[in-house]
Amino acid sequence: MYDVWQNALAEIEQQISVANFSTWFQDTSLITAEDGNIKIGVKNSFYVKQLRARYYDIIANALKNNNTQVNNIEFEVVSTNKPKIKPREISTVQPIKTQIKTIRKNNHEIKSFSNGLNPKYTLDNFVIGSNNELAVAAAKSIINSPGDKYNPFFLYGGPGLGKTHLVQAIGNELLRNNPDCKILYTPISHFYSDFIDAIQNGKGKEFNLKFQKLDCLIIDDFQFIVNKEKSQEEFFNIFNDLYQLNKQIIVTSDRLPSQIKTVDERLSTRLTWAGAFDIQLPKFEDKCAILRAKAELQGAEIEPEAIEYIAENVNTNIRDLEGELSTILLMSEVRGLTPLELINNGSVSVNKTSKLRPVSAKQIVDKTAKYYNLSTKEMCGKSRIANIKNARQVTMFLLSKELNLSTNKIAAEVGVKDHTTVMHGIKKIEKDLKLNFILRDQIEEIKEKIYG
Ligand code: ADP
Ligand code: MG
Repeated sequence: MYDVWQNALAEIEQQISVANFSTWFQDTSLITAEDGNIKIGVKNSFYVKQLRARYYDIIANALKNNNTQVNNIEFEVVSTNKPKIKPREISTVQPIKTQIKTIRKNNHEIKSFSNGLNPKYTLDNFVIGSNNELAVAAAKSIINSPGDKYNPFFLYGGPGLGKTHLVQAIGNELLRNNPDCKILYTPISHFYSDFIDAIQNGKGKEFNLKFQKLDCLIIDDFQFIVNKEKSQEEFFNIFNDLYQLNKQIIVTSDRLPSQIKTVDERLSTRLTWAGAFDIQLPKFEDKCAILRAKAELQGAEIEPEAIEYIAENVNTNIRDLEGELSTILLMSEVRGLTPLELINNGSVSVNKTSKLRPVSAKQIVDKTAKYYNLSTKEMCGKSRIANIKNARQVTMFLLSKELNLSTNKIAAEVGVKDHTTVMHGIKKIEKDLKLNFILRDQIEEIKEKIYG
């Protein structure tokens, strides 16, 4: 029974956000599963209500997929000293990948895993903002006309910004338009472990054939291809075969292929043949829109001021935004106070940002100059030499992003005459960051030095 519930949890973990998973499934256990009557143990009556309302179907499907008959599910409060399964234990006992493999091996008929698509990711629940509008436009074009203009579709951006969501949504929409469409979504890590398995079992050819039959191949987290030469070669072959047949190829990565050291140059070029689309950090308005949409989806009430508070204080990614929202909504239910009341009385304090850590303009200027092996005086001087000018512009960018300083103040800090030079400098770095991953890494390293 422990195994059944563990496998079911592994599957549920794939389908909902990390925050929701740890909030709702952390202290659950399977009490009985006889003749389709399932009893699940939970912490308190609040969880009974929430799990029944929000996750009944997901739990039922996960159990069914693990060969457990489900006619009815009941949730029951159990005392806290009963043995529980903690989600983190699942990961440490057995890596999630291995668990999924076991599930796949045990049941080849599992529908939800056969194409790797998770129906929870749709375009309807993907909020379009200035951070992702181009990528979404391309996605829509692919949905209308797969294998056409944006083939391959290469999507990149930092973690937690919606890459998986968007490419899964494309897959789901394609399937909705044409239920016969053969789609496969796979993280690159699964691609290579399946490939190695196939080779070891003398089934390399079958592996290749399986991919050739596809109408659309979605590869997630391509950056993990590092040092997997054979898999890369195999992927290259599959890529070429599909491309020639005008089949849609979709690839996500946290960086451009040219920035992944071990990627063959030919593959790198081909992946961005149709351009590279990025998803950036959401701006304040985008964050508010996402929070509003997420709250609405959960049927939760939250004041606009509380939304703004979270948006202002989460500057990392959308995954963290979701996490903070879930925590506040949960606390709000448990304590019987509204989200804003909780914020105002100091019960919750959201701080997912580098901005709140105390750092002075001088520290930013000095550390950036040092990073580029320049003295502060040199960097803040009049030199037009490219590397000095670049360091100065990076400093302007950091002063703006980290401290929100006005362009006039920044001008004074870096020793330039007028604020238009500052505006130009910041824009230049913002533009470069879209394509220049070395610069992106440099800026991250400088930030580590500033705050470290
Ligand atoms: P990535 O693959 O880039 O690491 P994910 O696609 O896993 O990021 O997104 C992280 C979480 O944020 C997911 O729960 C996803 O649904 C949510 N998310 C990201 N972008 C959006 C968006 N624009 N609208 C709604 N939800 C989003
Ligand atoms: Mg992802």
